[in-house]
Amino acid sequence: MFDCVVVGAGFAGLAAAAELSGKGRDIVVLEARNRIGGRVATYEHEGTKIEVGGQWVSPGHDSMHELIEAAGVSLVGPQEGALLIRSQGAVYRSSAAPDRSHALTPFEMADLGQGMLRFRRLAERVESDPTWAAANASWLGQPLGRWVKANLRTPAAQQDFSAVLASVSEGMAGDVSLGQALTTTVQGADLESLFAVSGGLKLRRVLGGMHQLADHLAAKLDNRVKLGRVVTGIDHDPDAVTVRTETADGTPAESYRARRVLVTLPPWLAMRLEYNPPLPSWREEVLQRNTAGHVIKAFVLYPTPWWREQGLSGQMSADEGSVRVTFDISEETGPGIMMGFFEGTEAASMSKRSRTIREVAFIDSLAAVFGDEVRRPHVYLDYDWAADKYTRGCHTPHFAPGVWSVNGQLLAEPADAIHFAGSEYVGKHNGYMEGAVRSGREEARVILRELG
Ligand SMILES: Cc1cc2nc3c(=O)[nH]c(=O)nc-3n(C[C@H](O)[C@H](O)[C@H](O)COP(=O)(O)OP(=O)(O)OC[C@H]3O[C@@H](n4cnc5c(N)ncnc54)[C@H](O)[C@@H]3O)c2cc1C
Repeated sequence: MFDCVVVGAGFAGLAAAAELSGKGRDIVVLEARNRIGGRVATYEHEGTKIEVGGQWVSPGHDSMHELIEAAGVSLVGPQEGALLIRSQGAVYRSSAAPDRSHALTPFEMADLGQGMLRFRRLAERVESDPTWAAANASWLGQPLGRWVKANLRTPAAQQDFSAVLASVSEGMAGDVSLGQALTTTVQGADLESLFAVSGGLKLRRVLGGMHQLADHLAAKLDNRVKLGRVVTGIDHDPDAVTVRTETADGTPAESYRARRVLVTLPPWLAMRLEYNPPLPSWREEVLQRNTAGHVIKAFVLYPTPWWREQGLSGQMSADEGSVRVTFDISEETGPGIMMGFFEGTEAASMSKRSRTIREVAFIDSLAAVFGDEVRRPHVYLDYDWAADKYTRGCHTPHFAPGVWSVNGQLLAEPADAIHFAGSEYVGKHNGYMEGAVRSGREEARVILRELG
């Protein structure tokens, strides 16, 4: 009998497994895909590495920074150069980009400051007063955009405010409610630090790909990760579990007996497993009151990063179009890569269309900001995480107002010998790689205490 079975080899599962095996525990990690990393994945296109999942780390992501140092990989910031902002049909070039807040007039800056203050006070109230949040659930359910328009007076400040909020959460698009935006901001980096110094772009990415951190964690596990093992169900009692698996083509495979199991699937997938006896029904009720986010991460590859010759950073922020934010994610050598997102309802709609239509929509959105130069020969690639059966929604769920603050954290409660971890189960850095690593490690320590 194993001490613990870990279900899922994303960052939460790998971090937990490293913690458990580091303490000499006998463990096995069962992963459905034929690769590790989960929602962190670096794919190759003709020798070029492309980060299709989690990519950016921010100040305050301490566990991620520790891992980055331990893995001996390097970080790189956003590309230097001007940012292009499309607002109400006109394109502005921010001379001091990426510090775009300095491009605002004093009146617009004051307007932005007022809006941030109101938003921060509301975020604090939602966090500290769940009863108030529950009583005001329908007001908190209003679209974020409506609140921004009602609380900031100048279009430039409204635009900057929305752009920085979008940088907090890639899934934060037009269909996001005020309540969801407030909760996400409380859980992630604070708004002021996002605006400070670099205008919200203090983000860093790992050169060569974030998957190197998954490889680093897995290297400590001495082949205890089994790929292509889809967990289908868990029989459990207070002292032990039997974890049932099948192969990717549905052929029944081995069962694993263990004293504990740690399920690191996102909650909407964890609930699809068959539990015997069934888990309490309140878990279903909490999950019914959220919708999985939807993001399609898309890329255009050019022979060179031509925009740099024009002093551009490759970043844009637009108030309309299918794709509203882009970044230059080129490696040190190789093609120029511009990355952007279809988000929220746009992603849900584009998901049902062909890749060719998405390419046209992406290029048209870029052309509205960068001009027709974007139509030069290129390769278009994208990845639709919601269509991936081992993720089905990303990068995080949107809980209805009050649901997370009142009940959401209960999802992390163990049931008998079954424990849960992952980026959706933590209060802080929820939805981020940082949250996944912290959650995996913390739950591993709880299991270590139980194992004695
Ligand atoms: C497009 C995109 C962009 C993102 N950008 C960022 C970013 O810039 N910064 C940031 O911090 N975060 C970002 N995120 C979020 C971040 O990637 C995730 O929060 C984090 O990787 C989740 O880790 P996890 O271990 O909790 O879950 P997962 O990575 O989802 O791991 C769960 C694992 O379980 C496996 N699995 C599923 N079903 C089964 C089954 N039945 N049996 C066995 N195994 C199973 C899956 O294959 C997966 O490996 C992004 C996510 C996406 C999708």
